[in-house]
Amino acid sequence: MAEKVILTGDRPTGRLHIGHYVGSLRRRVQLQNEGGYKDMFVFIADAQALTDNFDNPEKVRQNIIEVALDYLACGLDPSKVTIFVQSAIPELAELSFYFMNLVTVARLQRNPTVKTEIKMRGFGAEGEDAVFGSGLPVGFFTYPISQAADITLFKATTVPVGADQKPMLEQTVEIVRKFNSIYGDTLVEPEIVLPENAASQRLPGTDGKAKMSKSLGNCIYLGESAEEMHKKVMSMYTDPLHVNLSDPGHLEGNAVFTYLDAFCKDGHFAEFWPDYANLDELKDHYTRGGLGDVKCKKFLEKVLNSELEPIRARRKEFEKDIPSVFAMLQEGTAKARETAARTMDEVRSAMRINYFSDKALIEEQARKYSL
Ligand code: ATP
Ligand code: MG
Repeated sequence: MAEKVILTGDRPTGRLHIGHYVGSLRRRVQLQNEGGYKDMFVFIADAQALTDNFDNPEKVRQNIIEVALDYLACGLDPSKVTIFVQSAIPELAELSFYFMNLVTVARLQRNPTVKTEIKMRGFGAEGEDAVFGSGLPVGFFTYPISQAADITLFKATTVPVGADQKPMLEQTVEIVRKFNSIYGDTLVEPEIVLPENAASQRLPGTDGKAKMSKSLGNCIYLGESAEEMHKKVMSMYTDPLHVNLSDPGHLEGNAVFTYLDAFCKDGHFAEFWPDYANLDELKDHYTRGGLGDVKCKKFLEKVLNSELEPIRARRKEFEKDIPSVFAMLQEGTAKARETAARTMDEVRSAMRINYFSDKALIEEQARKYSL
């Protein structure tokens, strides 16, 4: 068994939101605090963000610090975790280039997350089934390959992410198997770690849409103020059939209850709403009828605030010294490069492209010509 190496990244396309938190960040902090790992890496995926924001580099540039501040605010600790910036690790581009040979276009076309995202980002063609439009950049289409490089360059064993990343991890495992079977055992197969509850695996947006996503503008951000969050919670999507107080409410697709599933613990009832012992009792009352949405929203707001308040406070502290946050990133990046360079050396020798460092090759060729 390979020693445990934990790795994940986030695209600097905006501030991080509570979907990132329940989907991945909360688990990262937990894994960090449990310890018992060889290495833990968290990176800002700016090179990947450029695959669909190539015409807006300023957006990516401005969001580096936002993501870094959100990491620190959530409790990631640079003394325990190597935090780095993706574009500053050239070995990632090098490994991706060789991985390109191991993946067919047909296989990439079947990746369901890429298909959804192509449509979402307007790279699809007109019509229902025509997923791949003529405006689809090769870089975006192939990002699952570069993501496989992100994971394997650091020999990650454990990748805590949301459900949208499942196809990426499956594809990474395929690439590792193919690489190892052709070039010999070099890379490590990663394992996905999904959040335990379904609501956290893919948190919907405040509009009830399938996924809270920076690109869809339906987010509650980790660093936003209690006032901003209040407005968003109060206008959240619930149940359009729940018009009168006495109407039975529906939980399916009801964002308020999905968020409660993701955040609420029994203790929150004792603290904020002792009329109920737990979420099941609250759901029972809601579905029976006679319970208004506003009361549920007010409770959700309290639950969210109790989790987010310490995060907001820590963010404010780190915001006071931006240069040291950049220094932390630079240090983490230098450290990550050491690991990257080591793996790339192994990859080059496995792939038989280590011509100058392989004395045996030079001697063998010399012998061939001295006969
Ligand atoms: P973009 O729209 O630019 O792709 P994003 O909001 O999808 O941004 P990413 O940086 O792509 O965020 O994802 C970072 C991590 O957060 C991944 O592990 C992903 O699975 C997780 N994640 C993102 N959105 C959600 C969500 N709504 N619910 C659960 N996990 C999420
Ligand atoms: Mg995404």
